[in-house]
Amino acid sequence: MNTADICRVCMEDDWDAFNPLFNPRVDVPVTPEVMISDCAGISVEQDDGLPGVACTECLNALREAFKIREECHKVDRKLMKIFNWIRPEFSIGRDSGHSGNH
Ligand SMILES: [Zn+2]
Repeated sequence: MNTADICRVCMEDDWDAFNPLFNPRVDVPVTPEVMISDCAGISVEQDDGLPGVACTECLNALREAFKIREECHKVDRKLMKIFNWIRPEFSIGRDSGHSGNH
């Protein structure tokens, strides 16, 4: 299997319009590589020997995912500022009455 011929996101191999992950010709503020690693939490390196392209369908999906992710972060910061809200530590009330008895 040639890594140049399959989509990094969905492994599709019969797409005419592959888009490079690292040097995109498309007019986006971030490269698809960044969108994949940010949204999926996986490592995408130029020389990792894995596919360096994404099909157009996946690229569009990535853009949407990245957009909503950015929006959430932006709004979250705004909300915290507006409501002067400090994110609390997650604490589970382990010692609040629940014993080990059945
Ligand atoms: Zn794909």
